[in-house]
Amino acid sequence: RAKADGRGSVRLFEPAMEAEVRRRREVELELSAALENGEIRAYFQPQMGADGTTVVGCEALVRWLHPRRGLVSPGEFIPVAEHSGLITLLDMYVLREACRTARAWPGIKLGVNLSPADFLSHDLAERIAAILAETGFDPSRLEVEITENLLVGNQPEAISILARLRAMGMRIALDDFGSGYSSLGYIRRFRIDSLKIDRSFTQNIGQTDDAPAIIDCVVRLARALGVSVTAEGVETREQLRYLKSVGCHNMQGFLFGPPMPAADFEAFVRRQGSADDRIPHRTFAGA
Ligand code: C2E
Ligand code: MG
Ligand code: MG
Ligand code: MG
Repeated sequence: RAKADGRGSVRLFEPAMEAEVRRRREVELELSAALENGEIRAYFQPQMGADGTTVVGCEALVRWLHPRRGLVSPGEFIPVAEHSGLITLLDMYVLREACRTARAWPGIKLGVNLSPADFLSHDLAERIAAILAETGFDPSRLEVEITENLLVGNQPEAISILARLRAMGMRIALDDFGSGYSSLGYIRRFRIDSLKIDRSFTQNIGQTDDAPAIIDCVVRLARALGVSVTAEGVETREQLRYLKSVGCHNMQGFLFGPPMPAADFEAFVRRQGSADDRIPHRTFAGA
């Protein structure tokens, strides 16, 4: 028994692998249908300024309102979408929804996530430009969030797409900074405009001795390079106090608000106040 041979082990794993393949295929089929029938929504999570009270922006985060399974989180279907080639369709859908909605929120910056797989579409920049034109969204209010693994390997195609996005006036943010192959060299080379410190660092404030020093260091370096810093995953007053003390530019986390439907985000901004008081009252029709 203990000396189980290779064939035995393979047979042991087969049913599980088959089930996984089947699950992925199911999710894939359902997801492409969901993109056509309105089950895919953009939720918006507030981003606060350095004072921790003014809303300066939001991040669009995809949600799947599944008729049977309820609200499904991206962690469950983004990996499937990335493997199946649906991801760019999904990301462009979320971008369009988010731009259409956030257009009515003057002074509020919009963050949208892109997957490394999106950069395999050679016409990505043109597709994004078309969505901005169609929705009338001001590119200077748009910040595309990319991850460090896109930058590993220096693919010339990705570099040229990023350059085209910047040329249109968009900002480029490096998401989950510190969680992967972080290199400060990337900031310069890829002309990154802002860093989003991974929530594992934020959440270690007050828990481990080195977390505050790392954040302090990242904020200082970012300031020196003229890059802005957003702390992700802010959940406690203690974390907020520390982040304010080191001069972190922006903050995002459940302490302020979770990702929410557009109407709730509008209500949140009205209650909380934003850098711009022109947020209209009750003009929002959809959910
Ligand atoms: P992300 O871009 O780093 O987004 C932040 C995630 O942290 C979100 O999870 C958000 O709900 C969660 N979060 C925010 N504040 C807190 C907090 O205080 N505590 C904790 N524990 N979590 C917090 P979500 O919405 O489940 O998204 C997970 C990831 O899925 C995102 O990470 C992003 O990488 C990806 N994603 C989401 N929407 C899209 C999309 O439209 N396109 C692509 N390509 N990826 C997306
Ligand atoms: Mg993000
Ligand atoms: Mg992140
Ligand atoms: Mg992420």
